[in-house]
Amino acid sequence: MKKIFLLFVIISVLALSLGMAATYIVGTSADFPPFEYVQNGKYVGFDMELINAIANVEGFKVQIRDMSFDSLIPALKAGVIDIAIAGMTITNERQKIVDFSDPYWYANQDVIVKKDSNFNVTVLCGNHTIGVQTGTTGDLWVSDNLVKAGYLNKNNVKRYQSFIYSLQALLNGSVDANVLDSPVAERFAEMKPVKIVATLVTGESYGIAVRKGNSELLAKINDGLKKVKSSGEMTKLIDKYFGK
Ligand code: GLN
Repeated sequence: MKKIFLLFVIISVLALSLGMAATYIVGTSADFPPFEYVQNGKYVGFDMELINAIANVEGFKVQIRDMSFDSLIPALKAGVIDIAIAGMTITNERQKIVDFSDPYWYANQDVIVKKDSNFNVTVLCGNHTIGVQTGTTGDLWVSDNLVKAGYLNKNNVKRYQSFIYSLQALLNGSVDANVLDSPVAERFAEMKPVKIVATLVTGESYGIAVRKGNSELLAKINDGLKKVKSSGEMTKLIDKYFGK
């Protein structure tokens, strides 16, 4: 009888602790294949599987919330989301507002144009129009290196809330080029009638962001990242989303 009681207690405690697993709200911007995108009404992609894998090994649950890329950091700050994973580059400016995990991916910026166009890298200067996603490192690069340097008129930079719109603008001729992260440009070049005409070596690292000072969650994420790497799960994800 005592044993049965003990078993009952153990099962109850287990059920309780499982049921009480923390749920973190994860913000993303699901317009960034192969990192995050919508397929059959579901959020899929490398980042989505990575954060789920980390949650699994660390024993927490996640709930995905899709928003524009430039809303992610304000949402973290305001406590609307707990984690942001969106191919987000670790920059000094962002590090003043949020904390980042160890890097999990590396990228440069690529310049893409329509496949049938004759544009080359000179599309970045003169009277051409460049589409970027608001608040991204591509946006910053164009502002800092083209507009401020006087190569491009500031009215010739067209900012879009989503890469989907930026890409659409390129395809329908509203802009001459897009500047965006190299892994995503490569994916678009496979999926859409666009081509890469230049790579801007920016040497960016992607990190998972949490609210500044949330060291408990950051430690779980970094520990989870290490475990996902050492178990070979990371390699499987890389093969799945980047394997040719
Ligand atoms: N890596 C770029 C940045 O952090 C773009 C990210 C994105 O658009 N999802 O600004």
